[in-house]
Amino acid sequence: MGEKAKITCDVAVIGAGLAGLTAGVRAAQAGRKAVLFEKSPDSVHLNNSRMTSGVFHLALGDILGDEGQLEQRIIDVTGGAAHRGLARALARDSKRMVRWLQALGVRFIRGSPEPWHNFVLAPPAIAQLGRHWQGRGGDVMLRTLEAELKKRGGEIKRGHEARHLCRESGRCAGFEGASLDGRPFEVIARATVIADGGFQANRELLHAHLTPAPDKVVQRNAGNGTGDGLRMAKEFGAAVTDLRGFYGHVLSRDALANDTLWPYPWADELARSCLVVGADGKRFADEGLGGVYLANRIAALPDPASATVVFDQAGWEGPGTERFLPPNPNMIKAGGTVLKAATLADLARTAGIAEEGLASQVETYNRALKSGGLEQLNPTRTTSKFRPVSVERPPFYAIPVCAGITYTMGGIAIDECSRVTGEGGQPIAGLYAAGSTVGGLEGGEKAGYLGGLCVTGVTALRAAEHIIGALDD
Ligand SMILES: Cc1cc2nc3c(=O)[nH]c(=O)nc-3n(C[C@H](O)[C@H](O)[C@H](O)COP(=O)(O)OP(=O)(O)OC[C@H]3O[C@@H](n4cnc5c(N)ncnc54)[C@H](O)[C@@H]3O)c2cc1C
Repeated sequence: MGEKAKITCDVAVIGAGLAGLTAGVRAAQAGRKAVLFEKSPDSVHLNNSRMTSGVFHLALGDILGDEGQLEQRIIDVTGGAAHRGLARALARDSKRMVRWLQALGVRFIRGSPEPWHNFVLAPPAIAQLGRHWQGRGGDVMLRTLEAELKKRGGEIKRGHEARHLCRESGRCAGFEGASLDGRPFEVIARATVIADGGFQANRELLHAHLTPAPDKVVQRNAGNGTGDGLRMAKEFGAAVTDLRGFYGHVLSRDALANDTLWPYPWADELARSCLVVGADGKRFADEGLGGVYLANRIAALPDPASATVVFDQAGWEGPGTERFLPPNPNMIKAGGTVLKAATLADLARTAGIAEEGLASQVETYNRALKSGGLEQLNPTRTTSKFRPVSVERPPFYAIPVCAGITYTMGGIAIDECSRVTGEGGQPIAGLYAAGSTVGGLEGGEKAGYLGGLCVTGVTALRAAEHIIGALDD
C-alpha cells in the first residue's frame, strides 16, 4: 500500500448525484474550492439522479403553489411526521431551486396537464419500457452541473469511496477513504457534505427496518445507495430519524427476475382502485392510501412475494390504462404475469390464492362500496384520495405483485440549514447532509412521499448556502 494521498479543499462532498453536484456547484459559485468524491469509477456514473423520471413536484403538488399551503400539504401527507422547519424550507425553496437549475441551463417541459407535472426534466425519461437514461433529463442535468462545477474550479474525483469521518477539536474536519485500487486517501476540508443517496441497496439495513426478506423486494434504483453516509454519520455521533418508510411502487412479481419490468410499468393505479390480497385471499392494507404506502406494506409482509392485485374487466380498462406506461397493455408486453378467468374461483386457483377467502373478501368489498361503508372495513379503506372501483364484471384478473424500492425515506437527522444534528438536536460543526441520505421529511405511518428531487435539491442548496455564510464569517 502506498503513501496516503492528502487532498485539501474548502468543501468536500461525498457522492456526485443531484445532491452532491448541487452543493458543489453552489459553493463553487461563491468562490469556494469544492471537491466531490464519487465511489463509481465511470466517467458517466449511474445513480438515482441519472435514472430519475425527472418530475419536480412537492407532495404531488405544483412547486409554484402557495408556500403556506405547500407546507401544510407536507405536514398532512406525512401525518405530521415531517420536521416543521424542514417542511417550511422545502415549501419555500423548491421553486427557487428549480429556477437555479434553469439559470444553469437545465431544461424542463410540462409533462401533462396535471399541475404536479409542470416541471419535468427534458428530454423526458418515460418514453419506453426498460431503463433508457442516456441523453434523458437526469443525465443531461448531471452533465450540465458537472460542466458548471469544472468551469468554476471544482472537480469530481471518481473511484474514490468515503469510509470514515475525521474529527478535530470537536468538529468534522474531513474524511478518509480508499480509491478503487485500494489506495487510502485523506480529505481535509472546512466543511463536509454527505450526499451518498440513502440505504436502499443495503440488505442488512433493509432487513432491520423495512422488510423481513430483502431478496423479495425489487431494487428499483441504481444500486449504489448502500448506507455508507448513514453509518459514518452515526459513528460520528449524529442522530438518525425513524428509518421506516421508503419511496417505491407496486411492481409485477416477475420484476424480481425480469429487468424489463422496472422501473415501469407499475400496478399502483389498479392496486389503489381495486383490491390487494394476501395468499389467504384477505386484504391486509388500506389500498386507498396509494401505491407508495402499499409498496411499504407489501415489503413488510412475512412473505413479501405473496400479494396479489385483483380487479375485473372495468378495472383493467379503467385504472389499468391510467398514467404513463400503464399495465394495460405494458405489463403483458414486458413479460409480466396477468391472470384472467371467467370466475373468481378459477382466478383464485390459478393465482394460488385461498378460494373462499377471496370470494368472501370481494363480496364484502363490493357490498361496502355500494352502501358507502368502505371506511368501516378492516383494514379500513380510505376513499378521499382515489376513487374505488367494484370487482364484479367478468372476466376477473389477478396480477401477482411485489414491492419495488426506489429510495429510503429515513436517514441522517439535519436542521433547516442541512447541518447534521447530534442526539440532543445540536448541529455538528463542519458536517452537513443532503439528498436521499437525510431523514425528517418524508415517511411517517402512511409513508408520506414528498418527491425525492425537491428534497434533494433544496437540502443541497441550503447546505451550500450555510457553508458559504459560515466560511465567510
Ligand atoms: C427510476 C427512478 C425514478 C425516479 N423518479 C423521480 C421523480 O420523477 N421525481 C422525484 O422527485 N424523484 C424521483 N426519483 C428519486 C430521485 O431521483 C432521487 O431522490 C434523487 O435523485 C437522489 O439524489 P441523491 O444525490 O441524493 O442520490 P444519488 O443520485 O443516488 O447519488 C448518490 C451518489 O453517491 C455515491 N456514493 C454512495 N456512497 C458513496 C461513498 N461511500 N463514497 C463516495 N460516493 C458514494 C453514489 O455512487 C451516487 O453516485 C426517482 C428515482 C429513480 C431511481
